[in-house]
Amino acid sequence: MNQATMEQVLKDAEVALGHLETEGALEAWYVKYFGRENGEIGKLLKTIPELPPQERGTVGKAINQGKQALEAAYEERRGRVASAAMQEQLRGERIDVTLPARGQLGGSIHPIMAAKQELIDLFAYYGFTVADGPEIEDDWHNFTALNTPTDHPARDAQDTFYLPDGRLLRTHMSSVQIRAMESGKPPLRLIMPGRVYRRDDVTKRHYPIFHQLEGLMVEEGTTFAHLKGLLTALCHELFGKNRRVRFRPSFFPFTEPSTEVDVECPFCGANGCGTCSYSGWIELGGAGMVHPNVLEAVSLDPEKVTGLAFGMGIDRVAMIRYGINDIRHLWENDDRFLQQF
Ligand SMILES: [Zn+2]
Repeated sequence: MNQATMEQVLKDAEVALGHLETEGALEAWYVKYFGRENGEIGKLLKTIPELPPQERGTVGKAINQGKQALEAAYEERRGRVASAAMQEQLRGERIDVTLPARGQLGGSIHPIMAAKQELIDLFAYYGFTVADGPEIEDDWHNFTALNTPTDHPARDAQDTFYLPDGRLLRTHMSSVQIRAMESGKPPLRLIMPGRVYRRDDVTKRHYPIFHQLEGLMVEEGTTFAHLKGLLTALCHELFGKNRRVRFRPSFFPFTEPSTEVDVECPFCGANGCGTCSYSGWIELGGAGMVHPNVLEAVSLDPEKVTGLAFGMGIDRVAMIRYGINDIRHLWENDDRFLQQF
């Protein structure tokens, strides 16, 4: 080895070092020049004994100086690369404190519960309080006490969910009317909002679970005029003061006389639209005077007290109030739907 070769090796190492940008490349460079087995610097040092004795000192000193300079340059370069990597990482992870906070999704009242509460508030004004009962009911409270003969289609397993022990999921809130009349004495003014079950196929307008609100008023001197006045006032509160309300003769086993209650469609002014099936009227529910047989079933004397009863679908009221055209939306828990309320 001559002086020129030695200087070239040191020069090449210095130039190569100046181009390194990553820790991986730095490591490779270090192994190439300072590796214990085949490092270039080591190789240079090994050639010293082959030199003429008078040159050994000078060359050895020069190699060691070059070695120290390269090590210092290496440390400096390594520091700069690490610092650049850190800066890069910080840029990627930077927190922009000026971004608006994501916040938490606020909950809201489900439309069924909102309609239910609105109805409870309206009836409270007329002195009605809320009564409750079990969702798993016995035959007596759901059918027999309600003047529903054993061959009535409502008892059919096609329409009702029966449990193995003969009990059933209540098909209407009328069962709570019976319980209320069994446990309380007239005068009674009660509403029963709750969940009821029928074996319906799932369609736009039907669902096997739905919500009903039934009402019961049992007092001496209660007449059909009270029934009409009460439900007309309710329709006006719900759908507007000038809406016409009509009562159509109907049949229910537990009321006599019985009526269907319709209100003029608030969406089309009774001209006909999709919501009212182009009839101009919306069916609110059924009503009537409590059948004497029902009063007798709960040990009341129909000659002394009379009663009025009514029922309506809470889901239906919610759909009309909020313009919901498919009952399934009420059950699917789709955020895109629920966030509108
Ligand atoms: Zn209409």
